[in-house]
Amino acid sequence: MTLFERIIAREIPADIVYEDDLCLAFKDISPQAPIHVLLIPKKPIPRVGEADPKDQALLGHLLLKVGSIASQLGVKPTDKGFRVAINHGQDGGETVPHMHIHLLAGRPLNWPPG
Ligand code: AMP
Repeated sequence: MTLFERIIAREIPADIVYEDDLCLAFKDISPQAPIHVLLIPKKPIPRVGEADPKDQALLGHLLLKVGSIASQLGVKPTDKGFRVAINHGQDGGETVPHMHIHLLAGRPLNWPPG
């Protein structure tokens, strides 16, 4: 089991901010912004570039949840904004092989990333 599967199974504690049948969102243990949440599918897709066409609805569900989770945490999409990022593989900076969307907000974020 990956670390994130163990969080889904409640074997490892996490500060959960949202959950439904398909996904779970929890605060990143090493936040890079005042708001830093990870949104993961409960289905263990290793990384976004390896998702199956059958996962189209699930991937859409995850992206549609970003705005409502940001709002729930006090960042309305019409406010100052936020960033979503998905790291794929070594060069992408991925460290946990269970697809996750980073939601970062609460400070200006540089672009391009390092
Ligand atoms: P990535 O580098 O894109 O694979 O992101 C993995 C993220 O998981 C990093 O931002 C870590 O800080 C975060 N992380 C690792 N372990 C935990 C944990 N137990 N609870 C919450 N976030 C974690």
